[in-house]
Amino acid sequence: MESGLWIFRALCIGFTAYMAHKRGRNPWIWGALAYILLFATPFILAYVARREKRSLQQYLAQYPDARSKRGMSCAYCQSNSIRLWHQRGILFMRAKHLCNHCGSYLYDS
Ligand SMILES: [Zn+2]
Repeated sequence: MESGLWIFRALCIGFTAYMAHKRGRNPWIWGALAYILLFATPFILAYVARREKRSLQQYLAQYPDARSKRGMSCAYCQSNSIRLWHQRGILFMRAKHLCNHCGSYLYDS
């Protein structure tokens, strides 16, 4: 039973670190948090990352190599395929640019 807990913990850490990397967060810090909080950490990360907004200027300041000759590219997988995702609420509307290849959030417009 003891080894099952460690396998579960390793899966939580790995999954959280992967999610953190895809959302532009530090995978080491979020992985360490997952060691303590286990499966609650990916939900906390998803909640924190969902509220985050980044403009194109902020994205380019953070990832200057994302601007290529063929337009914008994903900073995480270098794909040029970016989709526009409209998120509508009662009092808000967001236009998020997401990577079509790896699904990472890139910036808002
Ligand atoms: Zn990507």
